[in-house]
Amino acid sequence: MKSPIPDYLAEVLETCGANDEGVLADYIPPLAEADPDRLALALGTLDGEVYAVGDADLEFTIQSISKPFVYALALADHGLEAVLEKVDVEPSGEAFNEVSLEADSGRPLNPMINAGALTTHTLVGAPDLDEEARFERILAGLSAFAGRDLAVDEEIWQAELEVAHRNHAIAYMLRGHGVFALDPREVVRGYIRQCAVLVTVKDLAAMAATLANGGVQPFTGERIVSREVGRQVLSVMATSGMYDSAGDWLSTVGIPAKSGVSGGLIGALPGQVGIATFSPRLDEHGTSTRGVRICERLSSDMGMHLMEVPAPARSLVGRRTTLPNVDGAGDGESDGWTYELQGSINFVGMERALRSMVEDPPGETAVVLDLTRVHEVRDVGRRMLLEGVRRLVLDGHTVTLVDPDGLLAEPGTIDAGEGTEARVIDHR
Ligand code: GLN
Repeated sequence: MKSPIPDYLAEVLETCGANDEGVLADYIPPLAEADPDRLALALGTLDGEVYAVGDADLEFTIQSISKPFVYALALADHGLEAVLEKVDVEPSGEAFNEVSLEADSGRPLNPMINAGALTTHTLVGAPDLDEEARFERILAGLSAFAGRDLAVDEEIWQAELEVAHRNHAIAYMLRGHGVFALDPREVVRGYIRQCAVLVTVKDLAAMAATLANGGVQPFTGERIVSREVGRQVLSVMATSGMYDSAGDWLSTVGIPAKSGVSGGLIGALPGQVGIATFSPRLDEHGTSTRGVRICERLSSDMGMHLMEVPAPARSLVGRRTTLPNVDGAGDGESDGWTYELQGSINFVGMERALRSMVEDPPGETAVVLDLTRVHEVRDVGRRMLLEGVRRLVLDGHTVTLVDPDGLLAEPGTIDAGEGTEARVIDHR
């Protein structure tokens, strides 16, 4: 069988490609010479598959799409608190290159506008790194997100540097407020170089998929940043990634996203996919017009919206059965109950399971909790389950956990807290 997915993506590309609204970015001279009709779309799954259609191998400069990833590197190197001291996480509602800082502190409002991105650039690596070493760390970090070695378009870097008056103005203001101590010219050089890193839509889809995957790169399996860093970056993309159209974007498309003025656009839907598009004509926000249409289409066709409410989970307790009489008494009476748990042991599931045990308590002595059909145990679910076990033991039950996949424990005995014990076996 041939997969229907590339055909679907090609159809989306063709339909959305018919639109030719928007204009090329012209403040960076080489970007004004791009072929406006180039068009590409890639979708990256969290287990490392990439579907790409159109000009999927065409390289273009990453521009502002570098911002969330460099923010991630700064967070990984210095921790959330230290970075927050320098760059806030409030949507600015302004254009990406607005010369605006928080009134008293001079702190940039968020890491997606240039003021914030210039600052996070300085926060990658140890504070005493020189310009070259800091850039090496950034290039290696972006490459790790993409899963291949990326390079810089030297010509575009130099061309933008010549016209980077606004970025210099912002960097000097930041320096004046003491947000960083480096030479503003060095910071602008480094930041613009980071914007000139060459990528394809496949690279961007993989980078977005890494964020959607909680920080683990889907091709290499390498953890690039922690789950917490990934969550922080996605949050900021959701609230500020689309600058002054962030609210409109979040309600219509509903995917944490970031655009760049060369025409790239990424979306990262947590736990689902990474998406990337390329088309150089831009709207008034500096975002690819066809990219917006493609994302709108994917979101509505596939229900890919952050606020799309999933179907309520099935009850965690799949079946409750009585145990056959195993005590040898031969009285024909059951010796206890088995609860077959299924799906995800999370807060919602455990709340229902505990509630059913409270409302309809297992009368007999033996209680078996069978995890054979459970596919994940969340931390909160684990704690709730163990607390349930502890209380059952205190109520006089002997508790056995059937845990063939070792989700909770290996076969043996498990301490459920304060000296209460349960037996763990790997099959019933
Ligand atoms: N290098 C560009 C700039 O700083 C990036 C802007 C963007 O992609 N929105 O102006």
